Amino acid sequence: MEQHLYDLLIIGGGPGGYTAALYGARAGLQTAVLEKLSAGGQIALTEQVDNYPGFEEGIDGFTLGEKMRAQAERFGVQTIYAEVTSAELTKSPKVLHTSEGTFYAKTVVLATGANPRTLGLPHEQELIGRGVAYCASCDGMFYRGKEVVVVGGGNTAVADALLLSKIAKKVTLVHRRDTLRATKIYQESLEKAENIDILWNHGVSELLFDQKLTGVRFKQLQTGEETTLSCDGLFISVGRNPVTGFVADELALDPNGYVLADESTKTNLPGVFAVGDVRTKPLRQVVTAVSDGAVAAHMAEEFLAGGV
Ligand SMILES: Cc1cc2nc3c(=O)[nH]c(=O)nc-3n(C[C@H](O)[C@H](O)[C@H](O)COP(=O)(O)OP(=O)(O)OC[C@H]3O[C@@H](n4cnc5c(N)ncnc54)[C@H](O)[C@@H]3O)c2cc1C
Repeated sequence: MEQHLYDLLIIGGGPGGYTAALYGARAGLQTAVLEKLSAGGQIALTEQVDNYPGFEEGIDGFTLGEKMRAQAERFGVQTIYAEVTSAELTKSPKVLHTSEGTFYAKTVVLATGANPRTLGLPHEQELIGRGVAYCASCDGMFYRGKEVVVVGGGNTAVADALLLSKIAKKVTLVHRRDTLRATKIYQESLEKAENIDILWNHGVSELLFDQKLTGVRFKQLQTGEETTLSCDGLFISVGRNPVTGFVADELALDPNGYVLADESTKTNLPGVFAVGDVRTKPLRQVVTAVSDGAVAAHMAEEFLAGGV
């Protein structure tokens, strides 16, 4: 049977993927999104998005994701619910092997995101948005004047602690070692912040809650001694896992597994573009993912016209 050849296939139906799809379809490209779960990606996990322009009262993440899908589909984008398991991106056409069969495309946009690493504690997932958070720049404002805990010891954790110290009444930074991995410049700022306490050699052992988070139980990792701290929020800043495993053989990645791509979204492979959280970039947000999506569709158009 002859297989359909798409102009543009997008892997991942989050904000970056559906924006690439919207721009691709509006440019007349035959476009489909391959999504393994449901439209919206990570933003669908949050109840309130207050920093995406155009929604003055904010919007819940699930609705925002659905709106992005519906808007792209209005211009003819096809959503195919399938998980891409492997890819042959150096071939022409490019081949995507999925849970629902094989798909062929002239250009591919990788928009698979980067999942925040969790602590794996009981009730952690159900408390997301009710005290447990993974992104200080997204959810920090919900904790104005409150007490929060930040877990982690790298640059992101320290940057999150510093950002939250300007919003929250008190911040406790918890780190499992006795020194931070964060760069010196961050550490100097940390020392100057008056409302940040650091708890060295501790890990979070339990989440305390009723309807929402009420506190955290810590374990001193050398002695095993346990203590409890009341708090309103727990920010888990222990890194992210970019979803690049299935393309790692072909695409150039940085040491943390992110796809090496700059503002142009071009990867090392002609006709393959990476957008949103999955690519190397300084800020992983909806607004930066959608920006990438628009650029990638433009680059795909140029590639198809023989320009890149
Ligand atoms: C709890 C939480 C709250 C947040 N709050 C905010 C906020 O308030 N404001 C803000 O700007 N940002 C927020 N963010 C960050 C924001 O969600 C991300 O920056 C944004 O979703 C990135 O979009 P993306 O398209 O790059 O990837 P994602 O949204 O991660 O989408 C990737 C999609 O790819 C799919 N996928 C992955 N692998 C495959 C595969 N092999 N085959 C098919 N499909 C695949 C996934 O199912 C997913 O739907 C929040 C994140 C979290 C976790």
